[in-house]
Amino acid sequence: MLVTRSALTFDHGRAIIARAEAQAVEIVLLNGDRLALDLPDDPRRAYAAAKSTVALVVAPPSKRRLQPIAPSADWRVDLAEGCPAHCSYCYLAGSLKGPPITRVYANLDEILDGLPAYVGQGSVTSRSRDRAHEGTTFEASCYTDPLALEPLTGSLSTAIGRFGDWDAPVQLRFTTKFADVGPLLGLDHRRRTRMRASINPTTFARFEGGTAPVAARLKALSDMARAGYPIGLTIAPIIAAAGWREAYEALLVDVAAALTGVADLDLTIELITHRFTPGSKAVLESWYPGSALDMGMDGRTTKRTKFGSEKLVYDTPTMRSLRAFFEERLAALLPSAWILYWT
Ligand code: SF4
Repeated sequence: MLVTRSALTFDHGRAIIARAEAQAVEIVLLNGDRLALDLPDDPRRAYAAAKSTVALVVAPPSKRRLQPIAPSADWRVDLAEGCPAHCSYCYLAGSLKGPPITRVYANLDEILDGLPAYVGQGSVTSRSRDRAHEGTTFEASCYTDPLALEPLTGSLSTAIGRFGDWDAPVQLRFTTKFADVGPLLGLDHRRRTRMRASINPTTFARFEGGTAPVAARLKALSDMARAGYPIGLTIAPIIAAAGWREAYEALLVDVAAALTGVADLDLTIELITHRFTPGSKAVLESWYPGSALDMGMDGRTTKRTKFGSEKLVYDTPTMRSLRAFFEERLAALLPSAWILYWT
């Protein structure tokens, strides 16, 4: 782990170093705050080296100014940036620039201290007729998988504890492809954190290198629900490959079985179909040249975003079939679940 000089001035930064030392992680103290990465010239080896590099840094004020993050939550709050896993459709390929190293933030208290100024200010849940009861929502999974980094940082546990202490209509949200929730189960969360499991059928697990098996994610979700947390499913990205109906049917049956008997189940569903941009496709094809993930134009259409860029989504007939399937099967298999959005 690379450690910048400024990171050492924060209690949380020093706590992360102590955790890293306890886990025998190699620590390199830098003379300043610049991350001078000595990556190999070969792009494949450079990717592998970057993915296995963690840097402990200080989030600058510009990163602590929150951005809206529709349709998930009012605001995006970053506890880190980057992820050590290797998903061949990873959305970070389109949103983060440069080598895919993971930056974890030492100034967590500063980040969390900035949140009260945003209460009641968002437009996704705060001012929504249907979702206002969720309060002001803060999404921690936009640029990272916070549970993947939890053994090293403890940042997610700290944030959950802070939301538990925060007697206000607020909610911390995170979604994950990891499963080590043991340290979260006993936290005094006061139901102000919603954990969602990001899942796909096991047949697509080959696209999700380095993540926890889907069965372990469902067990983690069940454990969190039984510890009183509101929970959710992020079914993403929904992939319309051959056999998708049977694969997703089996997945939903497994979810229903995992959640049987949970008291006060508060379950939301987010449905996100596979999409990519020309830019993210180019990055992903350079990172994962052998991937069987279909990013061709068959069954696709181009959609223009409100920011003027293009993304490739499934065409209308495919979208209709997928949506009808999920609405019908979720109503049958998980009747108490609440679909937050389809996209
Ligand atoms: Fe990207 Fe999520 Fe996979 Fe990490 S777990 S590589 S953030 S898709």
